[in-house]
Amino acid sequence: MVITLRAGTGQAEIDRIRERAESLGLRTFLTRGESRTIIACVGLVEPAHQELVGGLPGVESVVRISKPWRLAGRAASAGSTIVRAGDGPGAQFGGRELAVVAGPCSVEGMAMLRETALAVRAAGAGMLRGGAFKPRTSPWAFCGLGIEALEFLAEVRRETGLPVVTEVMDTRQVDLVAGHADVLQVGARNMQNFALLQELGRIQRPVLLKRGLAASVSELLLAAEHVLAHGNRDVILCERGIRTFETATRNTLDVAAVPVLKAETHLPVIVDPSHAGGRAELVAPLAFAAVAAGADGLIIEVHPRPAEALSDGEQSLAPDGFAELMARLRPFAEAAGRTLARPAAREAA
Ligand code: PEP
Ligand code: MN
Repeated sequence: MVITLRAGTGQAEIDRIRERAESLGLRTFLTRGESRTIIACVGLVEPAHQELVGGLPGVESVVRISKPWRLAGRAASAGSTIVRAGDGPGAQFGGRELAVVAGPCSVEGMAMLRETALAVRAAGAGMLRGGAFKPRTSPWAFCGLGIEALEFLAEVRRETGLPVVTEVMDTRQVDLVAGHADVLQVGARNMQNFALLQELGRIQRPVLLKRGLAASVSELLLAAEHVLAHGNRDVILCERGIRTFETATRNTLDVAAVPVLKAETHLPVIVDPSHAGGRAELVAPLAFAAVAAGADGLIIEVHPRPAEALSDGEQSLAPDGFAELMARLRPFAEAAGRTLARPAAREAA
């Protein structure tokens, strides 16, 4: 932390500022320049320290040098974190192989879920997604089958070996969802539901944390920090598009967030091109861009008959569209130094 003093600040004020910083456990170093005097503070800087020092007479500005994401930051880990979601092949985020999660926006029934799971597995996806509890803008929209859908997901996991990813919306559902799913998703609308993040810190299941509609990269990292600080070190970050002035797409995929996040954090970073673009024809190009930018994986909505989907049909790929995307993804994955499972490799495994 660096404190810049106002011109003409007297010795008594300087002493008070140093005493305050030292009372917070920091060591202080005074530097008198030609036109400015600064106090560099070294030690464990807490977010509150900036304000505790900033209000003192003589202080012009206080700038934190260290990053507030102590656990999520690269400095906290020797290398990149690999998050395992079960023990099947393709069930990990952050390794050399691209993580591909695919499945319907919502679980609408057992038959459609099984059909989708078999199709995405055949195309090379390593994990299955499907919403049981759905965060819908309107209460009159389909809000998911709830517990029944969790049971379908667990059954299809047994049948296919695909680990499952599903959203948890509320602290009261954490144990229930953790009892059925391999990865618990926190949706964009809940990214700063701190009670939920803390509760997820307590469990031993990976958390897929989606970026909020209007959240900055630093807010996303600090949201992850809440989960990490409460004891769960398995967090995957997901860029899923943010809200901007642009209306040609459902959201604006912030592709730059991928390399920015990868530089800041050791946690895996994946991209959701489905919710970013909002239209089926945009999913493949956005997926390619994400992988080229260094994403560790993708989460993609696939429905056996998108026109009949109860949620997000416009952005859902049909199984053949998903298989085509996977085939076209390969050169992008290879150019980014990644591997991608071969079609049907999961079935053989
Ligand atoms: C979803 O993945 O189904 C979903 C609702 O995503 P988001 O929270 O990113 O809108
Ligand atoms: Mn959806």
